[in-house]
Amino acid sequence: MSDTGKGADRIGDGTRAVRAGLPEPVKNEPTLPGPVFAAHFHLPGEVTGPYSYGRDDNPTWTLLERAIGELEAPGQDDVETLVFASGMAAISSVLFSQLRAGDAVVLPSDGYQVLPLVRAQLEAYGIEVRTAPTGGDAQLEVLDGARLLWIESPSNPGLDVCDIRRLAEAAHARGALVAVDNTLATPLGQRPLELGADFSVASGTKQLTGHGDVLLGYVTGRDAEAMAAVRRWRKIVGAISGPMEAWLAHRSVATLQLRVDRQNATALAVAEALRQRPEVSGLRYPGLPDDPAHKVAAQQMRRYGCVVSFTLPTRARAERFLEALHLVEDATSFGGVRSTAERRRRWGGDPVPEGFIRMSVGAEDPEDLVADVLRALDESAE
Ligand SMILES: *Cc1c(COP(=O)(O)O)cnc(C)c1O
Repeated sequence: MSDTGKGADRIGDGTRAVRAGLPEPVKNEPTLPGPVFAAHFHLPGEVTGPYSYGRDDNPTWTLLERAIGELEAPGQDDVETLVFASGMAAISSVLFSQLRAGDAVVLPSDGYQVLPLVRAQLEAYGIEVRTAPTGGDAQLEVLDGARLLWIESPSNPGLDVCDIRRLAEAAHARGALVAVDNTLATPLGQRPLELGADFSVASGTKQLTGHGDVLLGYVTGRDAEAMAAVRRWRKIVGAISGPMEAWLAHRSVATLQLRVDRQNATALAVAEALRQRPEVSGLRYPGLPDDPAHKVAAQQMRRYGCVVSFTLPTRARAERFLEALHLVEDATSFGGVRSTAERRRRWGGDPVPEGFIRMSVGAEDPEDLVADVLRALDESAE
């Protein structure tokens, strides 16, 4: 029943998502077995078999890891996926398991807001950190001698995009590994391994699980040796997902295509409505045909995400806008079925204007949501 074998590329994303990772059917057993709560497993005599201690492996993770692997790399049986307690646990597992003192790494200068903290930790361990913005290929200037290139495309929150295939080729030519943070696109929007990356890493907290109730992360990679180091990192740091979270995530993956298609189509509608408004500047959505990132995005993305970014003239205007919204919660994170938006500058980290808003488009009816946004823009005007 698993679709990872021959013909996996001929089925549609919805078909793949509803079946992803399911075990072979067993009479009188459920389709998706419930979470296995176990700190340890029966283990008489020799240590054999996959399940011995709950920090190392768990059958609920195994099924979810298979599901994510089928979506990230359909038909490629040699890839391995490991799930983690959060996106940051997954990101740290790659960086800290692959890099040694004296190595150099290239990070995005406009990436996820925790990356500066990661940078300080890498530097404390004697790793040289170089940065380059996501758009514009400046990564090429700082690749020489680097051990790892870290890409976040589309970037959060600026929604810039880089040419993953081109950068991966350049990095490999210089002997560097390539990791892509695939959080914003989801595996239905982009498959980094097919574009040449060695690792696809993501926060499953966002659109992958999509209900704002689970923290999760994962790493998918094709190099067995590199993945063994990532697995060892998970074991020694213990940044593991609880079985309940892993099961909830797997249950949510079944509706991934439905959610992504609905939310992303509405995100485009919201972006098109915002584009008509004179008080909106810096509008970004990679799916808008005239977005600066659209050309590159269209080469490598199959869907453009559910996040729209834009700037209102002042901090006060942005705050009034957020308060005036009825259908959009003022909250961080993104990808959930309920729309959220926030003034990103309130966190202090991102180099964005005071009036910059990151909006995550949910599964509400598109007309309702567009009407709410337009009404809140009107009401927030002085
Ligand atoms: C949220 C996010 C992360 C971190 O994920 P957590 O699950 O919150 O640890 C990493 N990268 C990107 C692009 C994100 O949006």
